[in-house]
Amino acid sequence: MNIVIVGHVDHGKSTLVGRLLADTGSLPEGKLEQVRQECLRTAKPFEYAFLLDALKDEQSQGITIDTARVFFKSKKREYILIDAPGHIEFLKNMVSGAARAEAALLVIDAEEGIQENSKRHGYLLSMLGIRQVAVCVNKMDLVGYDKKVFDRIEKTYRQFLKEIELEPAAFIPLAAREGENLTGPSKKLAWYVGPSVLEALDSFKESASVEKRPFRMPVQGVYKFTESEDARRIVAGRVESGTLAVGDEVLFLPSGKKSVVKTIEEFNAPKRARVTAGRSTGVTLSEQIYVNRGDVMCKVKDPLPQVSTLLRAKLFWMGKRPMTVDRPYKLKVATAQVTVRLKKIERVIDASELKALTKKEIGRHDVAQCVLQAASAVAFDLAEDLEATGRFVIVDEVDIAGGGIILERIEDGQAGLRRQTVAREQKWDFSGVAPEERVHRYGHKPALVLLTGKVGVDKKTIARELEQRLFGSGHKTYLLGMGNLLRGLSTDVEQHRLERHEHVRRMGEVAHLFLDAGLIVVATASNLDDTELSHLHEVTSREGTLIINVGPNSFKSAVVDLNLEEKVPAADNVERILQLLRDRKILGLHS
Ligand code: GDP
Repeated sequence: MNIVIVGHVDHGKSTLVGRLLADTGSLPEGKLEQVRQECLRTAKPFEYAFLLDALKDEQSQGITIDTARVFFKSKKREYILIDAPGHIEFLKNMVSGAARAEAALLVIDAEEGIQENSKRHGYLLSMLGIRQVAVCVNKMDLVGYDKKVFDRIEKTYRQFLKEIELEPAAFIPLAAREGENLTGPSKKLAWYVGPSVLEALDSFKESASVEKRPFRMPVQGVYKFTESEDARRIVAGRVESGTLAVGDEVLFLPSGKKSVVKTIEEFNAPKRARVTAGRSTGVTLSEQIYVNRGDVMCKVKDPLPQVSTLLRAKLFWMGKRPMTVDRPYKLKVATAQVTVRLKKIERVIDASELKALTKKEIGRHDVAQCVLQAASAVAFDLAEDLEATGRFVIVDEVDIAGGGIILERIEDGQAGLRRQTVAREQKWDFSGVAPEERVHRYGHKPALVLLTGKVGVDKKTIARELEQRLFGSGHKTYLLGMGNLLRGLSTDVEQHRLERHEHVRRMGEVAHLFLDAGLIVVATASNLDDTELSHLHEVTSREGTLIINVGPNSFKSAVVDLNLEEKVPAADNVERILQLLRDRKILGLHS
């Protein structure tokens, strides 16, 4: 069972864990003595927390881990204790899946009392849906094991937890360093009737098996089987819930691609017929479909995740600067990563005072209910249904600055188009040539370079020159303008004067064919708005589509990959686009 241990710094988390390991005989042979000797040698007073540091050093040889994970066994079961030093580490752990906890110990120093962080941590536990919490009032020795001190803390903190709808499983007085009430009853705390810390741990209930839930495997990457002629590819990821067997029909969302599991492969291990939640694995598929990192692999027969560009979320902000509506951020849900904007703040509260705040931005340590707008569709679950695909973090430039849970999917007006795309993928006649083989042969990835901007801004010259430059250097490329479609494929639309969005959709579909053929498509379109652009992304997929805006940028929420000035010589603008293609690793694969 995974347990996270949280609390204000210095309230005794590491001591509690260290002493628990020592007193349950869970330390490696001689470890305690070794650390004691080391303290003697360096004339430092012994601390149980050093045990964790020592174990951490051993675990982390060569790799950085920012959280101590320790293993121990009670008579009843095995535990993994996760010591999360701060909010960020805590959220990262809860979201990353490396150490997702089912229950928590929350430590409060009896002498120092309840701190803001004690409350914030409580809030985070409640928000993330960790319903089993034992509150450990530590360092009772410093207050003379006084019942009154304990009672006071219990009363105040229980009230706080009640307001955030968390019923603690136990409220335990203890002195971790002294080993009082840690693994058994304490004479010094004779007035206390209730479990020791170890008993409280043993009374936590294990949550219903994730194996029985719908199957979800967020794709971590797609790897070629071998360097040889073998064209099979392995779709790799961690099974977060459910089970998968060879022969299962699977669907990838949001891309909508469908296939059948051919084999289940694991590194240095025999093939398996089934794989269940908690394992990292790889599968090969019966069709050579193009799967992206970030897609969620699901089973066609299971309830499917939600897909949208709009979602309602509750998030905890800890960024140095506030979260505002005018900045782009990165949203990470499972392995997917998309640009998002804060579309609307519905409610902000202070996570320790629980006061509602009237604010136009989300400040450090605020909790907010808000609507997030993603630049392209994301597949997710509601946090109350499935944690792994229902929790997220927000990255501001390079720092994790917030995290939270998905409350609800909001209809984004693209469901119809999305259904069409999914249907298209399912009827697709797959080429016998795998996408990677084309990439290998051509020396570049497929891409749609879309030049857009106002009517009258010259995009064509740049587009033509770009096409020539690409062609000249041996790339497979093609120029696609609206004109190529209007009197051809779209004659019917022209005649019936259908809506503009149908033109855009058709352009997307034609581009999609060329992308499937492995080409770099250079396209131009004037006056595209945010909605049209997201429709285009829906049809061609965001991956490999580069939006180049020429002249004034009038998009509101759409993400532009490059802004070019009109007055600059076309050759210079082309150079900038080529550089972007190299930066995005679309070009230059053979060099
Ligand atoms: P953390 O930051 O929450 O991991 O706190 P530590 O475990 O590092 O403990 C901080 C300090 O409190 C250390 O000096 C510990 O020795 C001390 N400490 C921990 N538990 C107790 C206790 O039960 N009684 C007393 N008096 N000190 C304690």
